[in-house]
Amino acid sequence: MTSVKVAVRVRPFNGREKNMSSRCIIEMQDNMTKITDPDSGKEKKFYFDYSYWSHDGYTEDSEGILSPNGPGSNYADQDKVFNDLGIGVLDNAWKGYHTCLFAYGQTGSGKSYSIVGYGKNEGIIPKACREIFERISDARAKPSNITEFQVTISMIEIYNEKVHDLFQPPNKREKAGLKVRENKGEVFVDGLKKVPVESYEEIEKQISIGTSNRTIASTNMNSTSSRAHTVTTITFKQTVMENGKPTNQKRSDINLVDLAGSERQSGTGATGERLKEGSNINKSLSFLGKCITVLAEKSTGKSKGKVVVPYRESQLTRILQNALGGNSKTSMIAALSPASVNYDETLSTLRYANQVKAIKNVAKINESAHD
Ligand code: ADP
Ligand code: MG
Repeated sequence: MTSVKVAVRVRPFNGREKNMSSRCIIEMQDNMTKITDPDSGKEKKFYFDYSYWSHDGYTEDSEGILSPNGPGSNYADQDKVFNDLGIGVLDNAWKGYHTCLFAYGQTGSGKSYSIVGYGKNEGIIPKACREIFERISDARAKPSNITEFQVTISMIEIYNEKVHDLFQPPNKREKAGLKVRENKGEVFVDGLKKVPVESYEEIEKQISIGTSNRTIASTNMNSTSSRAHTVTTITFKQTVMENGKPTNQKRSDINLVDLAGSERQSGTGATGERLKEGSNINKSLSFLGKCITVLAEKSTGKSKGKVVVPYRESQLTRILQNALGGNSKTSMIAALSPASVNYDETLSTLRYANQVKAIKNVAKINESAHD
């Protein structure tokens, strides 16, 4: 049994927060994160596996890359986050475990920055893809190597409770979305394209195709932010060949999830279609929350007897079923805004992350022997 690993990361003020002369209500010390209620001054403390201070203490080089501005800085840059979370994901994939990393937080809190990155500040997905192909070419270069490696990628978007293949342009998609099915305990998206890739350049090309096919709808809070959940899955297979025959195979699904904004819809000016989207987005997110609550109670022994986890109630929880309560090594990054105006949302993200910490999974190595 391993617990879900939880990281929190606090970003710099954005332009709007700076203009409002916002106060920073987050403090971090080692693995402790403290949030201060801007009205009452009351403090609450939380403890996580990793706490990333990315609020200040950075410089930007000529390429736009952010890094610590000196030895006294505790600024956590993209390399730091990748070295903890991304490398852990890859090490587990190499052993044959399914892995999942998901980013949670309100719109504009830094989920996509950590998972995907912007410009030269590459996030976990591109860094992980580089590392996968570097490791493969190192392994292949060894004269003793008898392992064959196969990498495939798929990308989906869950929008309005419909599952869309991001390798399919929007005008060629099934309006009703793809069906999620189950076979021998394995959940899969029926008809989803899985593209084999042989190099970093190939996988990067696929990711940019997938990214450009996402649905972008504007909201009052953040005009370019996606209101959809994006799941990128890299399947990694290692086949041991002896005398031209496969003798053993290990398989790992690496799920990298950029969730839609967790903010409540009221107060964001959502109406009509947008409101409907909101309630559907919230359906997946609220069932994610419900599953997490049930799983956390189960792990801490609070609930006795047979517990039903409501995975089947939303597309997101069906797809993440294994990652949440089963055969997967899972981690979460909770993205935090530093600003006093976002106190309620940030506190709710911290509470959510605190529950996720209690979830325990039973991951097994996915291995099959041939003879
Ligand atoms: P989300 O995906 O949660 O809606 P984004 O990742 O798009 O939020 O982040 C919002 C803005 O904050 C972006 O302009 C991004 O560059 C900036 N940002 C987020 N996290 C960081 C960070 N750790 N360091 C520097 N800038 C960040
Ligand atoms: Mg985003």
